[in-house]
Amino acid sequence: MKFILNKMHTEVSDVVQYAFDFSGIKIGLNDYLGKRVQLNWTGIIQCRKYAKNTKKSFGEGFCYACFISAPEASPCILHPELCEAHLGKGRDIEYEERNHNQPHFVYLAATDIVKVGVTRSTQIPTRWIDQGAKKAIILAETPNRYQAGLIEVALKSVFADKTNWQNMLRNINDDSIDLVEEKWKMEEILPSDMLDFLTDDDEISELNYPVLTYPEKVTSLSFDKTPEITGTLTGIRGQYLIFDNQIVINIRRHTGYEIELNA
Ligand SMILES: [Zn+2]
Ligand SMILES: [Zn+2]
Repeated sequence: MKFILNKMHTEVSDVVQYAFDFSGIKIGLNDYLGKRVQLNWTGIIQCRKYAKNTKKSFGEGFCYACFISAPEASPCILHPELCEAHLGKGRDIEYEERNHNQPHFVYLAATDIVKVGVTRSTQIPTRWIDQGAKKAIILAETPNRYQAGLIEVALKSVFADKTNWQNMLRNINDDSIDLVEEKWKMEEILPSDMLDFLTDDDEISELNYPVLTYPEKVTSLSFDKTPEITGTLTGIRGQYLIFDNQIVINIRRHTGYEIELNA
Protein backbone atom coordinates (compact mmCIF):
# COMPACT_ATOMS: atom_id res chain seq x y z
CA MET A 1 0.00 0.00 0.00
CA LYS A 2 1.44 3.36 -1.09
CA PHE A 3 0.51 6.71 0.41
CA ILE A 4 1.73 10.16 1.42
CA LEU A 5 2.69 10.41 5.09
CA ASN A 6 0.92 12.80 7.38
CA LYS A 7 1.46 13.24 11.06
CA MET A 8 -0.15 10.28 12.82
CA HIS A 9 -3.77 10.69 13.81
CA THR A 10 -4.33 10.10 17.53
CA GLU A 11 -7.24 9.40 19.82
CA VAL A 12 -7.26 9.29 23.60
CA SER A 13 -8.36 6.11 25.22
CA ASP A 14 -6.94 4.01 28.11
CA VAL A 15 -4.06 3.67 25.69
CA VAL A 16 -3.57 6.27 22.94
CA GLN A 17 -4.81 4.99 19.58
CA TYR A 18 -2.64 5.81 16.57
CA ALA A 19 -3.42 5.73 12.87
CA PHE A 20 -1.79 6.65 9.58
CA ASP A 21 -4.12 9.11 7.96
CA PHE A 22 -4.05 9.72 4.23
CA SER A 23 -6.84 11.75 2.68
CA GLY A 24 -9.20 10.70 5.44
CA ILE A 25 -8.50 6.97 5.14
CA LYS A 26 -7.12 5.67 8.42
CA ILE A 27 -4.93 2.65 9.05
CA GLY A 28 -4.95 1.77 12.75
CA LEU A 29 -1.39 1.28 13.94
CA ASN A 30 -1.90 -0.21 17.40
CA ASP A 31 -2.78 -3.51 15.66
CA TYR A 32 0.72 -3.68 14.21
CA LEU A 33 2.40 -3.84 17.62
CA GLY A 34 4.62 -6.91 17.88
CA LYS A 35 4.48 -7.40 14.12
CA ARG A 36 7.04 -6.92 11.40
CA VAL A 37 6.57 -3.65 9.58
CA GLN A 38 8.40 -2.34 6.56
CA LEU A 39 8.30 1.27 5.42
CA ASN A 40 9.88 2.11 2.07
CA TRP A 41 10.24 5.67 0.86
CA THR A 42 9.61 5.87 -2.89
CA GLY A 43 11.82 8.96 -3.29
CA ILE A 44 8.83 11.24 -3.75
CA ILE A 45 8.06 14.17 -1.44
CA GLN A 46 4.86 16.10 -1.93
CA CYS A 47 4.50 19.60 -0.46
CA ARG A 48 1.61 19.51 2.00
CA LYS A 49 0.27 22.86 0.83
CA TYR A 50 -0.51 22.29 -2.86
CA ALA A 51 0.42 18.60 -3.22
CA LYS A 52 3.20 19.46 -5.67
CA ASN A 53 6.39 17.39 -5.70
CA THR A 54 9.47 18.87 -4.09
CA LYS A 55 13.07 17.64 -3.91
CA LYS A 56 13.44 18.57 -0.26
CA SER A 57 11.09 19.13 2.66
CA PHE A 58 11.29 22.29 4.77
CA GLY A 59 9.62 22.75 8.15
CA GLU A 60 7.81 19.38 8.22
CA GLY A 61 6.48 18.97 4.73
CA PHE A 62 6.68 22.24 2.80
CA CYS A 63 8.48 23.03 -0.44
CA TYR A 64 10.75 26.04 -0.05
CA ALA A 65 8.33 28.48 -1.70
CA CYS A 66 5.54 27.50 0.69
CA PHE A 67 7.86 27.38 3.68
CA ILE A 68 8.62 31.07 3.24
CA SER A 69 5.07 32.14 2.33
CA ALA A 70 2.39 29.74 3.65
CA PRO A 71 0.51 30.84 6.77
CA GLU A 72 0.85 27.30 8.17
CA ALA A 73 4.63 27.78 8.18
CA SER A 74 4.79 31.31 9.52
CA PRO A 75 7.27 32.17 12.30
CA CYS A 76 4.46 32.54 14.87
CA ILE A 77 3.81 28.78 14.66
CA LEU A 78 7.13 28.10 16.40
CA HIS A 79 7.26 31.43 18.22
CA PRO A 80 3.75 32.37 19.39
CA GLU A 81 5.09 35.61 20.87
CA LEU A 82 5.65 36.84 17.30
CA CYS A 83 1.99 36.36 16.37
CA GLU A 84 0.18 39.47 15.08
CA ALA A 85 -3.26 37.94 14.58
CA HIS A 86 -4.71 40.09 17.37
CA LEU A 87 -3.54 43.15 15.40
CA GLY A 88 -5.20 41.88 12.23
CA LYS A 89 -1.81 41.16 10.66
CA GLY A 90 0.15 38.15 9.44
CA ARG A 91 0.98 36.18 6.28
CA ASP A 92 -2.70 35.48 5.72
CA ILE A 93 -5.11 37.60 7.74
CA GLU A 94 -8.01 35.16 7.43
CA TYR A 95 -5.90 32.20 8.49
CA GLU A 96 -4.54 34.17 11.43
CA GLU A 97 -8.01 35.26 12.52
CA ARG A 98 -9.41 31.73 12.29
CA ASN A 99 -6.49 29.94 13.94
CA HIS A 100 -4.52 32.37 16.07
CA ASN A 101 -6.91 35.11 17.15
CA GLN A 102 -8.66 32.37 19.14
CA PRO A 103 -8.41 31.09 22.71
CA HIS A 104 -5.06 29.46 23.45
CA PHE A 105 -3.70 27.48 26.36
CA VAL A 106 -0.33 27.63 28.02
CA TYR A 107 0.39 24.22 29.52
CA LEU A 108 2.98 22.33 31.49
CA ALA A 109 3.85 18.81 30.35
CA ALA A 110 6.02 16.35 32.24
CA THR A 111 8.30 13.53 31.19
CA ASP A 112 11.74 13.57 32.83
CA ILE A 113 11.49 17.37 33.01
CA VAL A 114 8.70 19.94 32.98
CA LYS A 115 8.16 21.64 29.65
CA VAL A 116 6.08 24.73 28.95
CA GLY A 117 4.13 24.98 25.71
CA VAL A 118 1.39 26.85 23.87
CA THR A 119 -1.42 25.46 21.81
CA ARG A 120 -4.82 26.38 20.53
CA SER A 121 -7.48 25.23 22.99
CA THR A 122 -8.94 22.80 20.44
CA GLN A 123 -5.58 20.99 20.17
CA ILE A 124 -5.69 19.55 23.69
CA PRO A 125 -4.81 16.69 24.24
CA THR A 126 -3.54 16.11 20.67
CA ARG A 127 -0.59 18.40 21.23
CA TRP A 128 0.39 16.59 24.44
CA ILE A 129 0.24 13.21 22.72
CA ASP A 130 2.32 14.49 19.79
CA GLN A 131 5.01 15.44 22.27
CA GLY A 132 4.82 12.14 24.13
CA ALA A 133 4.00 13.79 27.45
CA LYS A 134 3.37 11.51 30.41
CA LYS A 135 1.32 14.05 32.34
CA ALA A 136 0.09 17.56 31.56
CA ILE A 137 -1.83 20.39 33.14
CA ILE A 138 -3.34 23.59 31.74
CA LEU A 139 -1.68 26.64 33.22
CA ALA A 140 -3.36 29.60 31.57
CA GLU A 141 -6.02 30.44 29.03
CA THR A 142 -5.60 33.50 26.85
CA PRO A 143 -7.77 35.20 24.22
CA ASN A 144 -5.14 34.83 21.49
CA ARG A 145 -1.85 33.18 20.52
CA TYR A 146 0.29 36.26 21.13
CA GLN A 147 -0.69 36.57 24.81
CA ALA A 148 -0.03 32.85 25.36
CA GLY A 149 3.37 33.35 23.73
CA LEU A 150 4.24 36.16 26.15
CA ILE A 151 3.49 33.89 29.11
CA GLU A 152 5.54 31.09 27.59
CA VAL A 153 8.49 33.43 27.11
CA ALA A 154 8.17 34.61 30.72
CA LEU A 155 8.41 30.98 31.84
CA LYS A 156 11.27 29.87 29.60
CA SER A 157 13.76 30.80 32.30
CA VAL A 158 12.05 28.31 34.66
CA PHE A 159 11.00 25.48 32.34
CA ALA A 160 12.37 23.86 29.23
CA ASP A 161 10.51 24.58 25.99
CA LYS A 162 11.58 21.36 24.29
CA THR A 163 11.00 17.73 25.15
CA ASN A 164 14.12 15.62 25.48
CA TRP A 165 12.93 13.13 22.87
CA GLN A 166 15.61 10.53 23.53
CA ASN A 167 14.59 10.29 27.19
CA MET A 168 10.91 10.37 26.26
CA LEU A 169 11.42 7.36 23.94
CA ARG A 170 13.38 5.51 26.64
CA ASN A 171 10.50 6.17 29.04
CA ILE A 172 12.60 8.09 31.52
CA ASN A 173 10.11 9.94 33.68
CA ASP A 174 10.50 11.90 36.86
CA ASP A 175 7.60 10.62 38.95
CA SER A 176 8.29 13.14 41.69
CA ILE A 177 7.12 16.01 39.49
CA ASP A 178 3.96 17.54 40.96
CA LEU A 179 2.37 19.58 38.18
CA VAL A 180 -0.16 21.27 40.46
CA GLU A 181 2.65 22.47 42.70
CA GLU A 182 4.65 23.62 39.66
CA LYS A 183 1.61 25.46 38.35
CA TRP A 184 0.98 27.42 41.50
CA LYS A 185 4.66 28.33 41.90
CA MET A 186 3.99 30.42 38.80
CA GLU A 187 1.92 32.82 40.82
CA GLU A 188 5.17 34.14 42.25
CA ILE A 189 7.08 34.14 38.99
CA LEU A 190 4.66 35.62 36.46
CA PRO A 191 4.36 39.38 36.07
CA SER A 192 1.11 40.59 37.67
CA ASP A 193 -0.56 41.52 34.35
CA MET A 194 -0.31 37.85 33.32
CA LEU A 195 -1.80 36.37 36.49
CA ASP A 196 -5.36 37.01 35.33
CA PHE A 197 -4.92 34.33 32.69
CA LEU A 198 -4.12 31.50 35.14
CA THR A 199 -6.88 28.88 35.15
CA ASP A 200 -8.41 27.40 38.30
CA ASP A 201 -8.63 23.98 36.72
CA ASP A 202 -5.97 21.75 38.33
CA GLU A 203 -6.84 18.57 36.50
CA ILE A 204 -3.83 16.50 35.53
CA SER A 205 -4.14 14.46 32.36
CA GLU A 206 -2.18 11.22 32.25
CA LEU A 207 -1.39 9.59 28.96
CA ASN A 208 -0.55 5.96 28.26
CA TYR A 209 1.13 4.97 25.04
CA PRO A 210 0.98 1.69 23.15
CA VAL A 211 4.47 0.41 23.90
CA LEU A 212 5.40 -3.25 24.48
CA THR A 213 9.02 -2.55 25.42
CA TYR A 214 11.00 0.65 25.57
CA PRO A 215 14.51 0.69 24.08
CA GLU A 216 17.56 1.39 26.25
CA LYS A 217 19.17 3.44 23.53
CA VAL A 218 17.57 5.06 20.52
CA THR A 219 18.83 5.69 17.01
CA SER A 220 16.62 7.98 14.99
CA LEU A 221 16.54 7.23 11.28
CA SER A 222 15.37 9.37 8.38
CA PHE A 223 14.12 8.17 5.02
CA ASP A 224 16.59 10.50 3.32
CA LYS A 225 19.50 8.38 4.55
CA THR A 226 17.64 5.08 5.06
CA PRO A 227 14.84 4.75 2.50
CA GLU A 228 13.95 1.28 3.75
CA ILE A 229 13.10 0.83 7.42
CA THR A 230 12.18 -2.61 8.69
CA GLY A 231 11.68 -4.08 12.13
CA THR A 232 9.22 -5.40 14.64
CA LEU A 233 7.10 -2.53 15.87
CA THR A 234 7.47 -2.43 19.66
CA GLY A 235 5.82 0.88 20.40
CA ILE A 236 4.42 4.25 19.41
CA ARG A 237 4.85 7.40 21.44
CA GLY A 238 4.72 11.06 20.51
CA GLN A 239 4.99 11.03 16.73
CA TYR A 240 7.58 8.24 16.78
CA LEU A 241 7.41 4.62 15.75
CA ILE A 242 9.72 2.47 17.90
CA PHE A 243 11.21 -0.73 16.46
CA ASP A 244 12.79 -3.69 18.26
CA ASN A 245 16.30 -2.90 17.01
CA GLN A 246 16.40 0.40 18.99
CA ILE A 247 15.50 2.24 15.83
CA VAL A 248 12.96 5.05 15.97
CA ILE A 249 11.47 7.23 13.25
CA ASN A 250 9.73 10.56 13.62
CA ILE A 251 6.70 10.28 11.34
CA ARG A 252 5.74 13.95 11.59
CA ARG A 253 9.18 15.01 10.35
CA HIS A 254 8.45 13.01 7.18
CA THR A 255 5.14 14.69 6.36
CA GLY A 256 4.74 14.61 2.56
CA TYR A 257 7.00 11.59 1.97
CA GLU A 258 5.43 8.93 -0.19
CA ILE A 259 5.90 5.53 1.44
CA GLU A 260 5.00 1.98 0.77
CA LEU A 261 3.79 0.12 3.84
CA ASN A 262 4.28 -3.63 4.02
CA ALA A 263 3.03 -5.38 7.11
ZN1 LIG B 1 4.59 24.06 -1.70
ZN1 LIG C 1 -0.10 33.86 14.24
